[in-house]
Amino acid sequence: MKILDVLSQNLSHGSRTRQPNDVVPYPEDFRGKLSHALELCTACGTCVYTCSPGAIKIDDADENVVHWIYMEDRCTFCGFCVQYCPTHALSFEKEAPAPITERSQHYISHDIVLPACKVCGRPVRVIPELTLKQLYGSPLPEEIVEAQGLCENCRQKLISKRFLKTIVFTGDPHGK
Ligand code: SF4
Ligand code: SF4
Repeated sequence: MKILDVLSQNLSHGSRTRQPNDVVPYPEDFRGKLSHALELCTACGTCVYTCSPGAIKIDDADENVVHWIYMEDRCTFCGFCVQYCPTHALSFEKEAPAPITERSQHYISHDIVLPACKVCGRPVRVIPELTLKQLYGSPLPEEIVEAQGLCENCRQKLISKRFLKTIVFTGDPHGK
């Protein structure tokens, strides 16, 4: 009986059999190949922290360049790195990764050149603006904007200077 239904439907509406070229669209949240946008990456390391199988690593042995490395053969496509990357540098493509036959073809290795500190010129691991806004609100407080682009040492110096100024002017270390 069923076959008669199918035949009558095919006769009235045309065949519903998929042809080889009829590509099934990927679902909206399909997790295909991982893509890393080098220009958006600040080498903050959040993705390394969220990746439990250790598929992403950051090699910062060099002073001015951070090497961001992804090993697809360790990836479980859980999506945590994409979800938590503060600059949206990570995303999934709408294409399934190819089967792994040669390990080296399933590596992404990107070099992130660190910007120089505004004051002393040392390399800086920049905190993404989005992360700062999540921490301090938007618009960012003036003192945070002032500290942006400074290395750890220069940030500490700036904070000490502010602290001393507050004590000198108000006699109160909390500035009240
Ligand atoms: S979380 Fe995003 S910005 Fe941070 S290192 Fe990973 S890819 Fe780069
Ligand atoms: S999708 Fe999951 S397993 Fe794959 S790199 Fe990202 S956090 Fe690691």
